[in-house]
Amino acid sequence: MFDSIWRKSISKNNYDNKIEDFNTDVLIIGGGLAGISTAFYLKDSNMDVCLIESNKICSGTTSLTTGKITYLQDTIYSQLESMYNFTISKKYLDSQIYASNLIKENIDKYKIDCDYKKNDSYIFVYNNEDKKKIDKEYNILNKMNINVSKIKTIPNIFNNIYGIKVSNTAVFNPVKYINFLVSKLNEKVKIYENVRALEIEKSSSKYIVRTTSNVIKAKYVIVCTHYPFFVVPGLIPFKTHIEKSHVIASKIDEIQYFNAISVGNEVYSIRYHKDKDSYVIFAGESYKMSNHIDYEKRQEELRLKFRKIFNLKPNYEWSIHDITSNDLLPIIGSVNDNNPNLLIATAFNKWGMTNSVLAGKIMSDIVLKNDNEYIDLFNPKRKITLKRSENFIVDSFNISKIYLSTKLNKNKSFYNDRVKFENINGKSYGIYIDKNNKKHIVRNLCPHMKCSLIFNYMDKTWDCPCHGSRFDIDGNIIKGPSVYDIKKD
Ligand SMILES: Cc1cc2nc3c(=O)[nH]c(=O)nc-3n(C[C@H](O)[C@H](O)[C@H](O)COP(=O)(O)OP(=O)(O)OC[C@H]3O[C@@H](n4cnc5c(N)ncnc54)[C@H](O)[C@@H]3O)c2cc1C
Repeated sequence: MFDSIWRKSISKNNYDNKIEDFNTDVLIIGGGLAGISTAFYLKDSNMDVCLIESNKICSGTTSLTTGKITYLQDTIYSQLESMYNFTISKKYLDSQIYASNLIKENIDKYKIDCDYKKNDSYIFVYNNEDKKKIDKEYNILNKMNINVSKIKTIPNIFNNIYGIKVSNTAVFNPVKYINFLVSKLNEKVKIYENVRALEIEKSSSKYIVRTTSNVIKAKYVIVCTHYPFFVVPGLIPFKTHIEKSHVIASKIDEIQYFNAISVGNEVYSIRYHKDKDSYVIFAGESYKMSNHIDYEKRQEELRLKFRKIFNLKPNYEWSIHDITSNDLLPIIGSVNDNNPNLLIATAFNKWGMTNSVLAGKIMSDIVLKNDNEYIDLFNPKRKITLKRSENFIVDSFNISKIYLSTKLNKNKSFYNDRVKFENINGKSYGIYIDKNNKKHIVRNLCPHMKCSLIFNYMDKTWDCPCHGSRFDIDGNIIKGPSVYDIKKD
């Protein structure tokens, strides 16, 4: 089935989609793990809180994740130390353990049935050249007093690897977790589905948010839309890039109590899941979307790799992207000093289970004026340090290059007898010819920031390689940051 294993858990409850104009203290935009966690931590305040979701609650990236709750995240601690320093790296580690504990506390306190299983986490490499990266991470984790040990095999999978292992990590079904949080919001937080925020405007003491349904005025606006749907001052596009990965889940006889991720150019991630059946979940074939890769080929490569390792056929297959920041730290908090009450949460670097929950806690603490020791670490206004500037320059160059190359339509590999780009009266159009030979014509221009689109053969959608917006073959919006359909002319 070309769908994620979690989406069958999406709640059948429907929320209102018709809003009269109204005022609220806090408006949260986006009903994924970040938005729902923020609502959860604000629900007992004296403030009026409202959440709008452009689709169904938890139908975005959170329903397409692999759902590991772990502080062992690639070789992030040695990378943060070299980009910043030991103190910042350690603080990031503390934040991830703190967020993992917040999830666990909720699960224990409310006995949430979300297939939570404690396990160990591994990172590993296959080749000698990358061993140094593992050693560096081992050393820094040791220095941070984490109980870390070396491993040479991954049970039932790889016999000859080099890696490290930590304990006290976990996996869960994020959709079931969110369903429970939402059940606790009823009565306290007004939720609307199928209401898309279109524009935010600042008036003297409030923000005015125009939506597809109506206008909401709010003192605080918290944007948890995965990627902000408005152009954020401070060059967020240049501080981030979009990375897509492919995922497979397959039934297996017995689950194992570990999750693992390889380090280096070829990244593969493995975890197990048990509901009424047992599954192995395998992800990989990641790439920057700006590289204009043929998604279908990548999915096939993942299938081949999966068959070779597990000798299984996929039961579920899907693909999804996440936002990566060039300094590997998420972007959470007030967008700038002129807009202290406009908050964003993005760039979780594929570690959004811990970081979404952390974002919810940090942003609710900002609104409630509570202390939170992590506010500064993730501050969207943080400066680009000299050591980080290399990534900044590379990302900025890549973004500019993608933008220009999409304009010039140099990606011939995306043309064939079913997909064409044509210039009509000086404007570029994308044409998809379906199996009944019907032509579907769209302007080749993403409404968000005017990048040209590429055709996604796997899902039959037009995708924006710059910021990840997606549209169906007739140009109707499926996923932001764009908030508009593609213009017809
Ligand atoms: C392949 C892959 C594997 C991953 N595995 C892991 C993992 O194992 N562990 C981990 O920690 N992290 C993982 N991540 C990262 C994690 O899944 C994401 O970072 C996280 O789910 C993002 O949550 P979110 O709430 O920000 O976004 P979403 O879940 O996408 O929620 C955003 C919501 O906002 C809504 N929205 C968008 N625009 C608007 C608008 N204009 N108006 C109203 N609503 C709007 C969307 O419909 C959506 O429901 C993985 C990511 C990928 C790509």
